Amino acid sequence: MVTMAHSSLIAILPGDGIGPEVTAEARRVLEALGLDLAFEEAPVGGAAYHQTGNPLPEATLDLAKRADAILFGSVGEPSCDALARHLRPEQAILGLRKELALFANLRPAKLFAGLEDASALRPEVARAIDLLIVRELNGDVYFGEKGMRTTDAGLRQGYDLMSYDEGEVRRIAIAGFAAAQRRRGKLCSVDKANVLETSQLWRDVVIEVAADYPDVALSHMYVDNAAMQLVRDPGQFDVIVTGNLFGDILSDQASMCVGSIGLLPSASLDEGGKGLYEPIHGSAPDIAGQGKANPCAAILSAALMLRHSLGQPAAADRIEAAVASALAAGHRTADLGGTCSTKAMGDAVLAAL
Ligand code: NAD
Repeated sequence: MVTMAHSSLIAILPGDGIGPEVTAEARRVLEALGLDLAFEEAPVGGAAYHQTGNPLPEATLDLAKRADAILFGSVGEPSCDALARHLRPEQAILGLRKELALFANLRPAKLFAGLEDASALRPEVARAIDLLIVRELNGDVYFGEKGMRTTDAGLRQGYDLMSYDEGEVRRIAIAGFAAAQRRRGKLCSVDKANVLETSQLWRDVVIEVAADYPDVALSHMYVDNAAMQLVRDPGQFDVIVTGNLFGDILSDQASMCVGSIGLLPSASLDEGGKGLYEPIHGSAPDIAGQGKANPCAAILSAALMLRHSLGQPAAADRIEAAVASALAAGHRTADLGGTCSTKAMGDAVLAAL
């Protein structure tokens, strides 16, 4: 965690679709805290492509590098669907994660009081959810050698190499153990070591790192079992550490266990604690521009930013308590069965602050 003596510069990259709507509410909440924060905005994704021909313009990347932390909305724009892959809006977020070496993705999931009815699980099962998924973000099958070829038998074949080196596993394992130390002291490492060599290395390295964290109780689980256990008894988990592919799938599964994708924030951190903070949802073109988006995931992402990059844990607690109290008082956007607009939900959180 970093303590800032000077004014902290926050890069706001609103992006596409509902991104600008939800980041505007998160910014209002940050401004209301009375902290020494400076904001600078830059285009990213489809919005940036339409302005500059590049989904991640040099000036936006420069701002992201200069800033103490980044608040990101979402990217993805139907008008860009036919573009070559390197020009698509989604390349902007992949580029930022790679350029800034944001290797540790933290995705907390907790059921807010009063939202039991919104969960896909039975209320008594959902109520026990308070977990954190620590997902590796810079390696695995997404970044291995990939391509399409024709086999000797004349069949088209697609391939993506899954690989991790021990340095990549060690740094995410350390992030997982450190997170468990800050929480309830339990770490579950999820892999597929019964079948995959990549996972065997993962497990060996996690066990080596465990020697430095005698106060954390380590367990291992195969990913197929973890998917089942997340629905059967999610209360058993404190921190889950896992690779890029498994973490991608398990964290979306966890989101529906707590009610709505519009509630889940995320932090993507580098080794020094600098981070990019974004809701886990996308640009939601189906509801963009209608004031229907739930801003809570973006607001809660701002809280993670205060805690992990700006050394302001008390302010982070205040935001999380304000969101919980606005929801408990019955303020809900349409995804949670309510009638609040995006701005009205932001107003409710501000009033609770
Ligand atoms: P999505 O998350 O945008 O939307 C899925 C569903 O959830 C939609 O019905 C949407 O209306 C709803 N939803 C999402 N966020 C919501 C919110 N805050 N409040 C209320 N409802 C919400 O996923 P998708 O439809 O698969 O993707 C749309 C675009 O977003 C695509 O271009 C995709 O590539 C992109 N995407 C971007 C990111 C990112 O920027 N990190 C992440 C995921 C998807």
